[in-house]
Amino acid sequence: MLEREFFLGFIKVHILYHASRGTICGTEIAEELTRHGYSLSPGTLYPTLHRLERDGYLESGSEVIYGRVRKYYRATVEGRLALEQAREKIRELISEVFEEE
Ligand SMILES: [Zn+2]
Repeated sequence: MLEREFFLGFIKVHILYHASRGTICGTEIAEELTRHGYSLSPGTLYPTLHRLERDGYLESGSEVIYGRVRKYYRATVEGRLALEQAREKIRELISEVFEEE
């Protein structure tokens, strides 16, 4: 359905935004998206993260916290540029779709 297509795009913007401000791990981003009202299964979230990484927008690393390995992601230069472009488009879109209000 169309909403799902839109939301997947919004979700990618959320991921890039948070990954450009610091490192994020899958669990954190899942919680963050829930907070924003998206219900996203791990079966959608993780492939999305992997695709963003494979396409060069995110890079990942791992660290050990309290004896557990945590995989984290952060935005690459490409990712930051894509986010910048998205921000401009979002600003423009908002001024258009909320024009009447
Ligand atoms: Zn967010």
